[in-house]
Amino acid sequence: MIHVKGYAAKNAKASLVPYSFERREPGDNDVVIDIKYCGICHTDIHQVSDEWGGSTFPMVPGHEITGIVSQIGPKVTRYNKGDKVGVGCFVDSCRTCTACMKNLEQYCTAGMVTTYNGVGKDGIPTQGGYSNQIVVDENYVLRIPDMLSLDRAAPLLCAGITLYSPLMHWNAGPGKKIAIVGLGGIGHMGVKLAHALGAEVTVLSHSLKKQEDGRKLGADHFYATSDPETFKKLKGYFDLIINTVSAEIDWNQYLELLTLDGSMVVVGIPEKQIPVGSFSLVAGRRSIAGSLIGGIKETQEMLDFCGKNNITSEIEVIQIQQVNEAYKRILNSDVRYRFVIDLKSLEL
Ligand code: NAP
Ligand code: ZN
Ligand code: ZN
Repeated sequence: MIHVKGYAAKNAKASLVPYSFERREPGDNDVVIDIKYCGICHTDIHQVSDEWGGSTFPMVPGHEITGIVSQIGPKVTRYNKGDKVGVGCFVDSCRTCTACMKNLEQYCTAGMVTTYNGVGKDGIPTQGGYSNQIVVDENYVLRIPDMLSLDRAAPLLCAGITLYSPLMHWNAGPGKKIAIVGLGGIGHMGVKLAHALGAEVTVLSHSLKKQEDGRKLGADHFYATSDPETFKKLKGYFDLIINTVSAEIDWNQYLELLTLDGSMVVVGIPEKQIPVGSFSLVAGRRSIAGSLIGGIKETQEMLDFCGKNNITSEIEVIQIQQVNEAYKRILNSDVRYRFVIDLKSLEL
């Protein structure tokens, strides 16, 4: 077994503390990755707090992992020692269902094996990237383009793909008016990606505090949702709204902002259910849909697109010892725009 150091929550809502555990020896198709950086996704907080139910402890969170391959199994063909790689939200899936066959492993009907808070095919609970090493089947590992730095690329593994996938699926591009609701970790990647794809991008944020940042990230327009005038002015304006907010907000109000046949895609996953009224949908033949991260093939495409267009996340690098304070700041929307843990700090 491989002895690993990390940080874990021992119970629901507990602070994260140092935690040692073991990972499997690499099998034929496994690569061992020395983790350099791991982003903090709001999902880590939902799961540590057991807001969605079913969390298991001790839990080592983290699914925005970048690092260097340090060892490979005898049958590995895609990676070599020294390669720059990443791991996102899942580390395995059934590989045979319709979704897996379509490269949409995130919708695997047997359930993807999540990077943490899941159970591997070996029956061992999975543990995430707030740790110094991880062992992953090469088919679930991503290549990080050379020109991207490992710290700024880490959030692409969840935040990047979570916005790239719906932008591609709903054909974001020139002539499309797109709103990103919530300028947090995943939202700011949405602004960068939609702008790079040539769409007109509007940020809907709860205040105007981040307006200047929004423009720098590539937004054409910026509005505060705390101002009722915003909803009057933008009625019927957007082709696509991507809702990234982690808290309960009135989705019906946002549906009104869609043009004929427009779609609102929900990616934020608040703790409580939000009711949607029929009139919000029937008027204007509007759609409401959801989207979950992206498959391995699309995640690699997104990374290559980011490599070509030099797109990375805006980050604040922290030491692992600051992780609990970072969680509090995320809950106060006080993050510009992703915390990334430097795992060297595990040695301090
Ligand atoms: P984050 O960095 O905390 O950003 C969330 C943003 O939502 C905040 O920056 C804030 O933006 C806005 N917000 C927060 N509380 C609000 C409130 N009470 N009212 C209105 N706006 C509020 O979180 P994240 O990491 O981007 O994740 C966002 C959500 O997406 C989480 O629920 C996470 O679990 C989910 N997620 C889903 C997927 C998927 O595959 N579907 C993948 C990753 C994450 P403003 O300050 O601009 O208003
Ligand atoms: Zn995530
Ligand atoms: Zn499957």
